[in-house]
Amino acid sequence: MRIDIRNLDFSYPGRKVLHDINVIMDDSEIVCLVGPNGSGKSTIVKCIESLLVPDKGRILLDGKESRNMKRIDMAKKIGYVPQSSNLTFSTTVFDVVLMGRRPHSSWQSSMIDIDIVIDILVLLELEDIALRQFNRLSGGQQQRVLIARAMAQHPELLLLDEPTSALDIAHQLDIMNIITDFVNEKNMSVVMVVHDLNLAARYADTIIMLKNGKIYAKGKPEEVFTKENLAFVYDVEAAIGSQKNKVTIIPIARNGCRLQTGT
Ligand code: ADP
Repeated sequence: MRIDIRNLDFSYPGRKVLHDINVIMDDSEIVCLVGPNGSGKSTIVKCIESLLVPDKGRILLDGKESRNMKRIDMAKKIGYVPQSSNLTFSTTVFDVVLMGRRPHSSWQSSMIDIDIVIDILVLLELEDIALRQFNRLSGGQQQRVLIARAMAQHPELLLLDEPTSALDIAHQLDIMNIITDFVNEKNMSVVMVVHDLNLAARYADTIIMLKNGKIYAKGKPEEVFTKENLAFVYDVEAAIGSQKNKVTIIPIARNGCRLQTGT
C-alpha cells in the first residue's frame, strides 16, 4: 500500500505535535520511523490508522482519502499493533489471534480463518501457548501474540508501534525476518516505530527521522544514519560502522560530554 501524506498538522488539546508532514511511503517497503521520545512517531502512525484526526492535511492510501474510508474497509487493509502495554484481553492466545480475522469473516469463523490462525501461531512459535490466557503472558509473549493477530489479518499495510521493545534479541530477529518474508511474499507494506537504530538499519528500506514533530531526514539507512544527523537529532556522538553491508550505530557520548575511557 502506498501512503501519501500531504501537509499534515496534528495537535493534542493545546499542543501542536506534527508540523507540515509531507512524505510518500512506497508500496511493499519496510519504513522505520525513528527519532527522540516525543518527536511524534506514534502520532503519525495513529493518524495513518485514522485513530487521530489531523488538524489539516491529507493522508492518501493507494490514492484514496483515508478520512473517507469506512472503518471495516480500513480493518481489512491495515493491521495495527499498538504499544503492547496498552492492551489487555481476558481470553486465550488463540482467540486473540483469531480476532485478526474478524474484518474478513462474518460473526462465525470459517475453517479458512482457523487454518490461517494455526499457520501464524506455528510461524511465530506460539503454538505451545495457544491455549494460555493472554493477560498472564510475559510482555514479550504478548507482543508476539499481538503481531500474530495483525498478521492473521493479512493486511496490505502493517503499522507497528515499537513491536520489538519487549523481545529478546533472538525473537527480535525472528519477528523481523518473518515480517520481511511477508513483505516480499505478500506485497505487504510496513510502517514501524522503532527505537533500536541498528534493527532499523538492518531491516528498513527507508528511514524517516523525526525531530520535534517535523521530518528531519528520509532515505536509505546509510543516508540517514550519519554522525551529523545523529548529533543534531539525538544530541549524541555516535560511531558509524558497517556489518554485512548494513550500517551500524554505536552511541558514544552525549554531545558536549567527553568520552570517558578506562573507567
Ligand atoms: P513519540 O512516538 O515520538 O515518542 P508521540 O507521538 O507519542 O511521540 O508524542 C508526541 C508528543 O505528543 C509528545 O510531546 C507527547 O507528550 C504528546 N502526546 C502524546 N500523546 C498525547 C495525548 N494523548 N495527549 C496529549 N499529548 C500527547
